[in-house]
Amino acid sequence: MPLRVAIPKEITPGERRVALVPTVAERFARLGAKVVIEAGAAAGVHYPDTAYAGAEVVTDPAALYAAADVVLKVQPPTVEEIALMSEGVVLVGFLQPHRDPERVALLRDRRITSFAVELIPRISRAQSMDALSSQAAVAGYKAALLAANLSGRFFPMLTTAAGTIRPARVLVLGAGVAGLQAIATARRLGAIVEAYDVRRATKEQVQSLGAKFLEIPVDAEAAGGYARELTAEEKQQEQAMVARAVAEADAVITTAAVPGRPAPRLISAEMVAAMKPGAVIVDLAAETGGNCELTRPGEEITAHGVTIAGPLNVPSMMAEHASEMYARNLLAFLTPQIHDGRLELDWNDEVIAGAALTHAGQILHAPTRQLVEGGDKHNDD
Ligand code: NAD
Repeated sequence: MPLRVAIPKEITPGERRVALVPTVAERFARLGAKVVIEAGAAAGVHYPDTAYAGAEVVTDPAALYAAADVVLKVQPPTVEEIALMSEGVVLVGFLQPHRDPERVALLRDRRITSFAVELIPRISRAQSMDALSSQAAVAGYKAALLAANLSGRFFPMLTTAAGTIRPARVLVLGAGVAGLQAIATARRLGAIVEAYDVRRATKEQVQSLGAKFLEIPVDAEAAGGYARELTAEEKQQEQAMVARAVAEADAVITTAAVPGRPAPRLISAEMVAAMKPGAVIVDLAAETGGNCELTRPGEEITAHGVTIAGPLNVPSMMAEHASEMYARNLLAFLTPQIHDGRLELDWNDEVIAGAALTHAGQILHAPTRQLVEGGDKHNDD
C-alpha cells in the first residue's frame, strides 16, 4: 500500500488556507504517495477537488482520517479531529504547543506522532521547511498593504498638476522575517521607512532594503567584539528614540515577538496620544497580546484619532500564496523521510528530532513536556 497523505478541510473559523496545493500534491504523488483530500478542502484557495489530479476525494472526515498514514494540517486539530486519527498516524502542522497543553496530552495519549512546524530548527538546511518564515513573510507584506489601505495619505511621493505630495513616513518595529517584508513592501510603495529591532544584526538587513535603522549613538561593543548589555540610561534613551519615531510616523507596523512569550509592549497609550491624528498602527503581534497597549486583537479601533488594527491570522488573508509556500515547506520537510513511497522517519535527523512534539505515547519536546506533565524544569526550547 502506498503512503496515504491526507488533507482535511480546515475547520478553524476564518482559516482559508489548505496544507497542500495541487502542484505540491503532484510532487508527493511522484514520491510514490497517494493523496487523499477531503471534498472542498481547497475551496478557500479556489481549487476545485478535481484540480488534485490522481487524488482520492472523500466527503466524510472520519473516512479521511481512517485512511491516513500522514495528516497535513494548517491549524492545530480539534479534540474531535484528534479522536478520528488512528494510533501511530503522523501529523504535521502548526500545533501551537505553548497554547494548548491539553491537546498535546491528547496527541500523546492517542499515540500520534506529531510534528509542530513551529519547532523545526532554524538552521540553514531547514530554510526551505521554515513555515514560520514563509507565513511571516506573507503577514509582513499584507501588514504594509493594510497600513496603506487604512491611511488617508499616499505612501509614495507624487508630483502632480495639483501639487507635490510628500511621501508617508512608515515605522516598522521588529525587523524579523515579517518586519523585513513589511519594510520591503512599504519601500516598494514609495514610503520613507524607518525600523528598529533589539537585535543589532538586523541593521544591515534594514539598510539593504533602503530603510533607516534607528539606534542611539552609543558604542555597545565590549571586550572581544561582543555587544554588552545597554545601561538603564541607554535603554531609556532608546525608548525615547522609539517614542519620537512613533510620534512622527504616518503609519507604524509592529511585529516584535519573543518566542513562546507574550508580545513585548512597545507603544504605550501615551505614545498613541502623542501620534499625529490620522496615523495608523497595524499590530501584527495582536495574536500574542499586541505590541501596542491599546490594540484589541481581531479589531480595528480609533483612539486619539489614530486607527489601531490588530488583525488575526493575517496569512489566511493571502490564502493562495500562503498555502502554496506552506505546502512547499511541508514537502521539503517530508521528502527526505520518504523512500520508495514509504515513510521512514530518521530520528537521528536533527530536523525530525527537533520538530517532534509527541511520539509513541511520549511528549518529546522537553519544554512542552514540562508544561503538560510538570516535573523538573527543562530549558531547551
Ligand atoms: P520573531 O517573529 O520571533 O520576532 C520578530 C522580531 O521582533 C525579531 O527580529 C526580534 O528581534 C524582534 N523583537 C523582539 N523584541 C523586540 C523589542 N522589544 N523591540 C524591537 N524588536 C523586538 O522573529 P522571526 O522573524 O521569526 O525571526 C527571528 C530570528 O530567527 C532571527 O534571528 C532570524 O535571523 C532567525 N531566522 C533564521 C532562519 C534560518 O536560518 N533558517 C530563518 C528565519 C529566521
